Amino acid sequence: MIKFQNVSKVYENKGQKTEALKEINVTVDKGDIFGVIGFSGAGKSTLLRTVNLLENPSTGEVLVDGKHLASLSKHQLRQEQKKIGMIFQHFHLLHSKTVYENVALPLGLSRVSKKEVDKRVRETLDFVGLSDKLQSYPDQLSGGQKQRVGIARALVTNPSILLCDEATSALDPQTTISILNLLKQINEEYKITILIITHEMEVIKEICNRVAVMENGRIIETETVFNLFTDP
Ligand code: ADP
Ligand code: ADP
Repeated sequence: MIKFQNVSKVYENKGQKTEALKEINVTVDKGDIFGVIGFSGAGKSTLLRTVNLLENPSTGEVLVDGKHLASLSKHQLRQEQKKIGMIFQHFHLLHSKTVYENVALPLGLSRVSKKEVDKRVRETLDFVGLSDKLQSYPDQLSGGQKQRVGIARALVTNPSILLCDEATSALDPQTTISILNLLKQINEEYKITILIITHEMEVIKEICNRVAVMENGRIIETETVFNLFTDP
């Protein structure tokens, strides 16, 4: 569960203030696929990044599975951040590392044996359908394949939450559908809560259960996707 309580965020750059988030109150239920939609600049990315504390809220609190991450010690915070996976529009893969090495990376920082790392990397890459690409480099892959590597890297630590930052915006429509189907499968098989930000209504329509509409730093509406697309 992710609970945003009165979350506001002000960026200050050279004396210039931008209110990116204004009193956000919304709860993402455990096991949900929750979408946040809005135009560029609405505050979606900032909102997503307050969940794993890539951004600190200026005021208010974000609770993740009941825990207030901002009040944890550095060590505890790192433990909690491992339970939150994230995928990106442009994948953020290391180009000098193989697919295998990219996915193993998050495990290198924890006290897991080499054998266990190997097992988990292979299982995860098998799950996303890339067991024949272990020794490929990202530049040898299609966009959809790169995102599958990104997804494997996010899943390899067994997270309970997956944050998706415009994860299909760089992909063609057909590849988008295949990645969304994979996210749906992850949600169903592993019971992972998925929070998606996007500017594309098709993405929301395809896999989300609930959706929040963002405008100028505010959530102006929260609705079930069923209600949004059904005539009253
Ligand atoms: P979205 O993801 O919906 O496009 P963002 O969260 O990226 O929206 O941005 C919300 C607002 O905050 C925008 O006006 C943007 O210019 C501003 N903003 C985002 N990041 C920063 C930053 N690091 N410094 C200053 N302003 C920022
Ligand atoms: P998409 O349009 O889905 O992004 P691409 O045209 O990029 O697909 O890739 C299609 C196929 O070509 C994929 O199976 C991928 O493995 C292969 N491929 C793409 N780029 C390279 C490359 N630089 N070297 C080797 N194979 C590649």
